[in-house]
Amino acid sequence: MKRQQRIRRKGIVRKFFSYYRPHKGLFALDLACSFAIALCNLCYPFVTRNVIDTYVPERLLEPMLIWLGVLAAIFVAKALLTYVVQYWGHLLGVKIQSDMRTEFFRHAERLPFSYFDETKTGTVMSRLVNDLFEVSELAHHGPEDTFTSFVTIVGAVVLMCLIDVPLAMIVFAFVPLMLTFALLSRKKMSAAFAESRREMAEINADVESSVSGIRVTKAYAAEATEERKFEKSNARYRTARGKAYRSMGVFYGGMGLFNDLLYLVVLLAGGLFFFYGRIDVGEFAAFILYVTMLLNPIRTLVNIFEQIQDGTTGFVRFREVMEIPEEDDPTDPVPVGTLRGEIKFENVSFSYKNPDRQDTDVIRHFSLEIPKGKTVALVGPSGGGKTTLCHLIPRFYEIDEGRITIDGIDVRDMRRADLRRNVGIVSQDVFLFGGTIRENIAYGSPDADEAAILRAARAAGADEFVSELPDGYETEAGERGVKLSGGQKQRIAIARAFLKDPPVLILDEATSALDNVTERRIQKSLDELCAGRTTIVVAHRLTTVRDADEIVVITQEGVRERGTHDELIARGGVYAELNAVRFD
Ligand code: ADP
Repeated sequence: MKRQQRIRRKGIVRKFFSYYRPHKGLFALDLACSFAIALCNLCYPFVTRNVIDTYVPERLLEPMLIWLGVLAAIFVAKALLTYVVQYWGHLLGVKIQSDMRTEFFRHAERLPFSYFDETKTGTVMSRLVNDLFEVSELAHHGPEDTFTSFVTIVGAVVLMCLIDVPLAMIVFAFVPLMLTFALLSRKKMSAAFAESRREMAEINADVESSVSGIRVTKAYAAEATEERKFEKSNARYRTARGKAYRSMGVFYGGMGLFNDLLYLVVLLAGGLFFFYGRIDVGEFAAFILYVTMLLNPIRTLVNIFEQIQDGTTGFVRFREVMEIPEEDDPTDPVPVGTLRGEIKFENVSFSYKNPDRQDTDVIRHFSLEIPKGKTVALVGPSGGGKTTLCHLIPRFYEIDEGRITIDGIDVRDMRRADLRRNVGIVSQDVFLFGGTIRENIAYGSPDADEAAILRAARAAGADEFVSELPDGYETEAGERGVKLSGGQKQRIAIARAFLKDPPVLILDEATSALDNVTERRIQKSLDELCAGRTTIVVAHRLTTVRDADEIVVITQEGVRERGTHDELIARGGVYAELNAVRFD
């Protein structure tokens, strides 16, 4: 197990660095500049030592000015190098982040339905935004800061050793102590802050639920209950945040103390060394400066440690999603143009795969034949599997047993895009994308010309209300756009289907969200849409059910009855019962 984890981690590290490959030049530039900055830093105490030891006591003004001039030039160079590292280094991080984001989005678009059944939109967003941000921070700062800190620490220690080895050792003995304290207390602090962030998320969730349910709260005069609930999570947040600040106090207080102690040690030890004539005053000054220089990289290393943790978690989560297989196409697909639309379910069984629970068995040994151009209605109580059956035709899910064919070709032998081009779906929830109404109608048919779009809108009965909007077909739809009624949105969806003109049509509760009057008006457009296409209708109260060529009654126990309206009424079974309630 341990070994496997190590291998996995190794794989992950290799994978992480593979994202640098396209930006090798930039990465090398970043590292080279960081290295140069570290070298610049190391020059300063060296020059100081010479100034104090030689130029000042010996009154050598000219060389002193020359060296200080060199130092000034080094500082300017350092400023330029810092600019490069800040700008290009961050750009490197952003480029890597952008590459990962593109890869992630492309992959997410191709993930199977089951992924989206199990994953909330918020989770996908947080992978795409927060996690990848952490990763890019690590991508940029990780190697660069580790490298710079390492060079600075090693450089400082070597230069200190050149002055006096025992003194350098005394000072350096302090560093591991300081690092250990910093890492431990920092870890505690991070955990406490993470806890307080979780409590904050709880507060957000509470507010969201209370605001969404405000009408119910008011109707039941339950404001006081909501306030009590809120106060509870608010108090938990206060406690958690208090704990976080306490550990922050320990961290900063402790780090400050270590800093000061380090100075004290170098003053004491350095002072004694000077006293006994082992070092001179310039070397003493240089030592103090090198010690100051050690503090920054130590702080950076502590930060890096946390960044590595956050970034690795983000990257591992990113890779987890990337490793979910995409919807695949057969290696040798049957070429498919426009199908005729003869659908056959042959002994099909299907269950939803639930990762943590038992699978949900929905369809068992189901067979159905729909000749070209005919209509089959699926009716029955909710939860029977009607929608599921519809989703199996365009292969949104993989069946466990049997086969589904269109025109005799197994849907699994076609390319998904070819299959789905032949199937139109109009369902209860119509989703409008950001963009104009025209773009929404032409969604999925980007090459459609103006005349075709207008024809589709007319056939769907959408033209009448669209042309009355202030900007007509150019009116913005979607979340930020014009608010359309359920019936109007449904007409846009029908127009989309008209424009797509598929031989197979699925109407999944297309009108259940509408009132009776609107439903009746839309019915005409739907009837026109169905004409000449193989149609599967799922409906509760749709009158077209009566005219369907076959009605299949599905309940939790599977298919209960099938036949025409008249046959089923005559039989006096489940359908006749449903019919008595729904159609009269
Ligand atoms: P109907 O359309 O007849 O109301 P559905 O096809 O929506 O029925 O659902 C059939 C059964 O499958 C129900 O028990 C439902 O809980 C379950 N189900 C539907 N969708 C999913 C899903 N994405 N994941 C797991 N179970 C599901």
